[in-house]
Amino acid sequence: MSAIVGFCLSGLWAAPAFAQEVESEENEQRWSIAIHGGAGTISPDRITPERRAAYEAALQEALDAGSAILAEGGSAMDAIQAAILPMEDNPLFNAGRGAVFTWEGRNELDASIMDGSDRSAGAVTGVTTVRNPILLADRVRTDSPHVFLMGEGAEEFAGEEGFEVTPPEWFATERRRESLQRMRERELSALDVDHKFGTVGAVALDQDGNMAAGTSTGGMTGKRWGRIGDAPVIGAGTYADNRSCAVSATGWGEYFIRVGVAQEICTRLRYRFRAGIDAAQATVPLDEFGVPTYLIHASEWSMEATSAQEEADAVMAEVAELGGDGGIILVTPEGHALYSFNTSGMYRGRATSEGVNEVAIFADE
Ligand code: ASP
Repeated sequence: MSAIVGFCLSGLWAAPAFAQEVESEENEQRWSIAIHGGAGTISPDRITPERRAAYEAALQEALDAGSAILAEGGSAMDAIQAAILPMEDNPLFNAGRGAVFTWEGRNELDASIMDGSDRSAGAVTGVTTVRNPILLADRVRTDSPHVFLMGEGAEEFAGEEGFEVTPPEWFATERRRESLQRMRERELSALDVDHKFGTVGAVALDQDGNMAAGTSTGGMTGKRWGRIGDAPVIGAGTYADNRSCAVSATGWGEYFIRVGVAQEICTRLRYRFRAGIDAAQATVPLDEFGVPTYLIHASEWSMEATSAQEEADAVMAEVAELGGDGGIILVTPEGHALYSFNTSGMYRGRATSEGVNEVAIFADE
């Protein structure tokens, strides 16, 4: 048994006799959600108390919208959209209204969404007239034969699906326009003028055990030549798979694409889970023929939060090694809601059926 105790440090394995019972009790009404509104150089001396309060209120509003759906037994897909919508409409964030400007002075929006129950996915890039790109990404998922639509084609599809045309003024804000002007005049980089990524995202686990992830953004200030970041790229900025996790990212998109951040985290979790079961199986006593006296079922095994955190941190370390920065949010089948970021702050929040309900901005919160 000592070997089993050892494995319990990295995973949980219940004794066969009552494993199923524990499992069903634990699963009862278990849900969790995590949201983000971007990561970056965010520190208490760079933000006024009023602005901080405004961000916290906006994050709480998004978190509450998603949590309410999950607490009532609604789906993870509905919860993440409910959480993302108010952030897309809030000019504090770089998504929908308040999106950053391209080099040419336009707001070009990207979004993606994925359902972990069947790995159906939808994404749009370079959209300029759809108020809530996350809804269009979802419509691509449900009503088109494709996964990823761009620019005019995406808007033509939106029109056919009855989405209203939103005028460009809806998305444009003075603050973002000034950032572009400063960048152009002083030949600065996007990070010099913005200091943070304001992409929004949400991930959730619902009471049926389904997970979902969604991400929406304006990209990076001064993006050129039709640049596409990680946010609309399934596997980079967004990924969900009921076997492992749901992830949404924010950060320097080029690096997140190169690492394939969201899928890399889920794949690592899936293999780590498998390795945990195999290791526990190896501790089961053998009968006189050398055959295991008991076969461990996946439902008896659950991954601890520290293990999932290690895998997410390892992937974010890869991003940092290549020179990128940013962060991710993550939920797991066990209901862990986690963050990992290598910047000084990330606008974020999480809530679970266990009573967790928090929003935070700085790294040490
Ligand atoms: N990841 C986004 C991009 O590269 C930017 C952000 O997170 O704000 O387009």
